[in-house]
Amino acid sequence: YRAKAEGSGFKVFEPEMNEWAARRHALRQALALAIERDELSVVFQPIVDISSNRIVCFEALSRWASAEFGEVSPAEFIAIAEESGLMKTIGEWVFARALRDASRWPKEIKLSVNLSAVQFRETALTTRFETMLAEVGFDPRRLELEVTESTFLHSNEVTRNTMLGLKAAGASIVMDDFGTGYSSLSYLRDFPFDKIKIDRTFIETSKTDAASQAIVRSVIALGHALGMTVTAEGIEEAAQIDMLRSMNCDEVQGYIFSQPLSAEAAWGMACGTGYLEPEAGNFDAGDD
Ligand code: C2E
Ligand code: MG
Ligand code: MG
Ligand code: MG
Repeated sequence: YRAKAEGSGFKVFEPEMNEWAARRHALRQALALAIERDELSVVFQPIVDISSNRIVCFEALSRWASAEFGEVSPAEFIAIAEESGLMKTIGEWVFARALRDASRWPKEIKLSVNLSAVQFRETALTTRFETMLAEVGFDPRRLELEVTESTFLHSNEVTRNTMLGLKAAGASIVMDDFGTGYSSLSYLRDFPFDKIKIDRTFIETSKTDAASQAIVRSVIALGHALGMTVTAEGIEEAAQIDMLRSMNCDEVQGYIFSQPLSAEAAWGMACGTGYLEPEAGNFDAGDD
């Protein structure tokens, strides 16, 4: 602000801005080619029932290994896809790939997929998903769709109808990263979610921060009062599982159980005992 007012200081920020814009621009162009260059992939992280350690679900997370830029995090490339009109294509590719892989798992294990607000705004989403599910013979009741609060920021009839349509088709709707957005509570009141995922930041700080701990405890109680399942994400320590179990949390997900796995490794795990013990050693595993 001051730099701008003084005129001379403005130049200091300019090269940085240009660099950022240039990377963004180059990433956008590379991302547009990522599918045909076979640079995108999907990895899967298990979600575990807290009382039995049974694997109940795998969350699909996308990965981009760019020839030019190396590994680009989804936090960065999903945002670029959203603002450049690529999200529909990429989201659909991810969904198709995740479905294909998940259709090889035992039927008790569900698949969870993240949906961008951009995808959710599209009227034909339900029909297209139903077609794709039918094509691979995947029961829609095994599908969970994770949406963040940004989906509801400018919500309208389309948002509501899409959500109801997906639910009517059999899928569950999950409120992801709960607590990090703007008005989580009104969204919980106004939209029929099946599940809440408590954001990792609350779990991370709950050991030392009494406020975080109180929030986690209350969100679990709130979710249950609304008839929803509650999942905690980003579990890295055994003590966090003990705390969450004492608070009646339903499901847990995090590096202490497993990192996101390649399709092959997830398939191996899905077809194994069906149970997963928390282990500190799971930490070093890397993405596959
Ligand atoms: P998310 O949906 O909340 O996914 C959980 C993120 O936390 C993943 O990061 C996962 O790798 C990471 N994580 C899991 N357990 C732990 C843990 O114990 N400790 C820590 N530090 N992290 C953990 P990732 O894969 O980098 O994805 C980041 C975000 O990007 C996702 O957050 C999601 O919002 C978005 N994203 C990823 N793939 C897709 C996609 O296919 N479509 C859309 N729309 N968004 C996606
Ligand atoms: Mg998610
Ligand atoms: Mg999340
Ligand atoms: Mg998150």
